[in-house]
Amino acid sequence: MSRYQKPRHRNLIGQRFGRLLVLELAPGRTSTGGVIWLCLCDCGKKVTVRAQSLPSGHTVSCGCQLREKAAQHIRTVRSTNGRTCHGHARHGKQSRTYRSWKGAKNRCFNVNESAWIDWGGRGISMCERWRISFPAFLADMGECPPGMSLDRINNDGNYEPSNCRWATNHEQRLNQRPKTKHSRIPTHWLPEEHIEALLL
Ligand SMILES: [Zn+2]
Repeated sequence: MSRYQKPRHRNLIGQRFGRLLVLELAPGRTSTGGVIWLCLCDCGKKVTVRAQSLPSGHTVSCGCQLREKAAQHIRTVRSTNGRTCHGHARHGKQSRTYRSWKGAKNRCFNVNESAWIDWGGRGISMCERWRISFPAFLADMGECPPGMSLDRINNDGNYEPSNCRWATNHEQRLNQRPKTKHSRIPTHWLPEEHIEALLL
């Protein structure tokens, strides 16, 4: 082997960079002629990494570390937004506003709830924004005023900003589905206020 054919790269086999263990030289070169190493990540995945990415610390995992960090970030944001910051569900004590949101969500999506048949079962849903975020619901609706509960303006409409208000029981009763000979209100039907109490 002439000296011109000697490999010009450092042998990194067996070396560890972050989560990556260098296994062997991978076939091929980068566009600039750099070598590529086949590495084994701690998570078990094999990846090819450009030699110049390794010692610089640019690449320290197959990508799983970034994914974990992203997932952790989402969990942190969620727990901050959803559990701690708004203070509506702290130490197992839930505010009336929080219970209204949770109750409405249950009625729409929890098929195990007996009330579901008259909400989710009738095709009544909750907008995505509210379904995934109590803080969003709180921002749109504000706190539940004393003596009021969550009401849908159009009884066949969804739980969404344009169709919801805080209403008194009296207002809610006026807004119930009309009794006609074709659509009978089921005997187990109760104002949403009362269903909420049963659910929680
Ligand atoms: Zn990995």
